[in-house]
Amino acid sequence: MPAIVIDGKAVSLKIREEVKQRAAALGERGIAPCLAVVLLGENPASLSYVTAKEKALTEAGMKSRDIRLSAGAAETELLSLIAELNADKTVHGILVQLPLPAHINTDRIISAIDPAKDVDGFHPVSVGNMVLGRPGFLPCTPHGVVFLLKELKIPLSGAHAVVVGRSNIVGVPLANLLVRRDVNATVTICHTGTRDLSRHTLEADILIAAAGSPALIKPEMVKPGAVVIDVGVNRVPDSAKEKGYRLCGDVDPAAAENAGYITPVPGGVGPMTIAMLLQNVVQAAEVYNYE
Ligand code: NAP
Repeated sequence: MPAIVIDGKAVSLKIREEVKQRAAALGERGIAPCLAVVLLGENPASLSYVTAKEKALTEAGMKSRDIRLSAGAAETELLSLIAELNADKTVHGILVQLPLPAHINTDRIISAIDPAKDVDGFHPVSVGNMVLGRPGFLPCTPHGVVFLLKELKIPLSGAHAVVVGRSNIVGVPLANLLVRRDVNATVTICHTGTRDLSRHTLEADILIAAAGSPALIKPEMVKPGAVVIDVGVNRVPDSAKEKGYRLCGDVDPAAAENAGYITPVPGGVGPMTIAMLLQNVVQAAEVYNYE
């Protein structure tokens, strides 16, 4: 039987509605939740992510301050901008769209953001809080995946979750969230050094692909009935499309024949990432020290 397709968009819309209500409640107190969105250069994928985030903020009744710098902007310029935004009491969250141009030290930039405004959850303080299970901002994509699994009432406790990918923004934080007591999964992390990837993926009750490799996960790599979460968003050249490319996940769509549940690309994890960002921004504005 083909897999049930998980509607990430539907779940995300519910969250966005809740965020809108929380933002409206802040509005009644005279607070306008605001995210500063910083983009360097004109990378088409980054531009489309940033536009989607800004649109979602507006729809949730929140403000975005769009700051565009040239791809050649100096690191010192970006650091001064962050210092200004840190000090600005009308800005509750700061998002610097990644990846940054090669001449900029990404770690230095992320570390410069005030952890109280780190709505991407990438600052070492946020990461430390996440690992220790303390309150703080959770990174949006990993949190979105866990939220989706919980919302769908997928049995997680004791399940074997296999995460393919170990990046700091997806794979590693996701594995950390899955192993927490509130989720209680047993986690395996795979990467390019993993010997015989299929051996691991075939053992997964929950298989999460976050490798950035189009259709890496083939149907024969999926245990029958497994829950398959496809985080990958890859642009594959396609002359039949007006834009010249199509979006493709890290999972071969034919894997739906084996899986119990599967997320589509687009419409699966992507909308959840944006919903979690909105949730972090409204949370930042709720707990902000306004004195
Ligand atoms: P990344 O930084 O490039 O990391 C990819 C990870 O996958 C690395 O750890 C790499 O291993 C591993 N990997 C790559 N090919 C592999 C293979 N053949 N076998 C096993 N492991 C492999 O990418 P990322 O930032 O984590 O993003 C991953 C994907 O998710 C991308 O397609 C990205 O566009 C997408 N994404 C989607 C959202 C969303 O909202 N839907 C958000 C963020 C990212 P090594 O460490 O050994 O190199």
